[in-house]
Amino acid sequence: MGRVIALLLAVSFACAPAVAASRAEKERSVLIANLRAHITELASDAYDGREPGTEGETLTLRYLGRQWFDIGLESGTNDPGHAWFTPVSLIGREPDRSAALFSRKGRRVAVPGSAVLVLTSGKRSLLENAPILFVGKGDAIPPRAELAGRIALMLDGGRDGSERQNAMLGGGASAVLTVLDSSRTIDTVVSQRRRLAYGIAGEELGGDLETFISAAALDRALTGTGQSVAGFQKAAQRDDFTPIPVDLNATFEATTRETRINTHNMIGRLLGKRPDAGAVLIMAHWDHFGRCAPQATDHQICNGAIDNASGLAAMTEIARRLARAPQLDRDVYFVATTGEELGLLGAEAFAENPPVPLKQIVAAFNIDSVALAPAGQPFAVIGAGMTPLDVQIAAVARQQKRKIAPGNAANAFVKRQDGWALMQHDVPAVMISSSWSDLGRVERFMNGDYHRPTDRVKPDLELGGAADDVDFHVALARWFGDLKKVPAAGK
Ligand SMILES: [Zn+2]
Repeated sequence: MGRVIALLLAVSFACAPAVAASRAEKERSVLIANLRAHITELASDAYDGREPGTEGETLTLRYLGRQWFDIGLESGTNDPGHAWFTPVSLIGREPDRSAALFSRKGRRVAVPGSAVLVLTSGKRSLLENAPILFVGKGDAIPPRAELAGRIALMLDGGRDGSERQNAMLGGGASAVLTVLDSSRTIDTVVSQRRRLAYGIAGEELGGDLETFISAAALDRALTGTGQSVAGFQKAAQRDDFTPIPVDLNATFEATTRETRINTHNMIGRLLGKRPDAGAVLIMAHWDHFGRCAPQATDHQICNGAIDNASGLAAMTEIARRLARAPQLDRDVYFVATTGEELGLLGAEAFAENPPVPLKQIVAAFNIDSVALAPAGQPFAVIGAGMTPLDVQIAAVARQQKRKIAPGNAANAFVKRQDGWALMQHDVPAVMISSSWSDLGRVERFMNGDYHRPTDRVKPDLELGGAADDVDFHVALARWFGDLKKVPAAGK
C-alpha cells in the first residue's frame, strides 16, 4: 500500500504543472471562443452597424444586457427610474442658412452670395455690422482690446485653420473670416462641412461664426479702398506685421437644422465589499456608424467588428472573470458608452451625470479596438504620464510578468478615445492594450478597415492580443479594487 501511495503521489506531483497548463490552455480557448462569439454577433448585419437611436442600438443593448445579467452584474445606473440604461439625448446639426452682407461707410458693397460661406455651431448666430481686422496668418493673437467685437480676417495658409480660428474667437473676435487661397474653394469647404455635427442636447452652444470668402470676391469688395488681398498677403509676410483695420464692415447670419437622437449608455456594476471605498471603471463604446458606404456598393453596413465589437467582447469577458473571482473591496462599474464615434458624447454624458461621484473613481480603463495584435505583445498605455496610475500599472505588469511598451508614442491617440472625456473631468483614465503597442500595426488598420464597411469578422480574426488584454484588465481591476493594494484616498 505504502509503496503504491508513494508512487501515486509522485505521479500526481509530476502531473500538477501539466494539469495546470492544460487548464490554462482550456480557459484561454474558452475565452477566445467567447470573444469570437460576441464579436460575430455584435458585428453581424442584423445589428446594422450599431447606430445610436436605431434598431441596431436596441439589439446591441439587449444582447449585452442579457450577457451581463447572466454573468451576475446588477444595474449600475444608481437610478431606480432607469435600470441599466441611462438616456442620452443628442442633437445633430447641419448647416442651413448662410448669409453675408458687406458695407462701407453705411453703403452696401456687392459681394455674390456664392462667394461667401457663413457657418455656426449653434442653432442661429447673427452678427450685425461689425468692423473687420486683418490678422495675417492668424499665428499671433492681437490684444483683446483690438480684437473684441471685430471680425478677424485671416489668410487660409493651406493647413487646418480650426485651431487658429478658435484662438481668435477665444481672444475676443466676434467672428473669423478666412480668405481662401488657391488650395480651397467655397465649394470644397461646403462639402467638408456638410456632415452633421453632434452635441449633447441641452448644452450651452457656442454661437460662434466661422466664415469664408474667396480671394476674388474680397478683392472686388475692396475696390477703391487701396487695400487688396495681394497687399494683405505681402503684409502678413513681414516680421513686424501688425493687424490692419479693413475698410469694410460685415453682417453675418447662419442657422443650422437639428436632428435629435435618443440613445443610451448602459451601466452594470459588480458589487464590492466596501462600496464607500470608491470604484473601478471599465468602459467600451458600443456605437458605430450604421450604414456608411455609398448607396451603390453592395455592402453598405459599417459592422465595426474591431471598432468596437471587440472592446464590448473584451469588457464582457472581463466582467465574467471578475464575477467568478473572490469579491473585491471596491465596486467595479462596466459602462458601454454611446456616441463615441460622434465625438465621445456618451462618455461626456456619463461624466456630467455619473452614477458615482467622479472623485470616487480610482481608475478608469477604456477598451477600444482590441482585436489587432497577436498574443504575447507588450501593452501600450494610452494616457501614460498623464495620470497618477503609471506606477500601479507597472506593478500589475510585474505581477503578471508582462511588458509595458516603453515611451508614450501611443498617446497620439489619447484624444480619440472615450477615456479623454473622463480625463477632462479629472478622472484618472487610461487605455491599455497590446493592439496599440506597434504603431505600424495601428497605422495599417487606420489606413485599411478602420471606419469602413470592411471592418467585418474575417476568418483570420486575431484574438490572441484581445485575450491578453482581458487577462491584464482582470488583474488591473483586482489590483485597483483591492484596498490593500490601492488604499482609499486620504487614508
Ligand atoms: Zn471608431
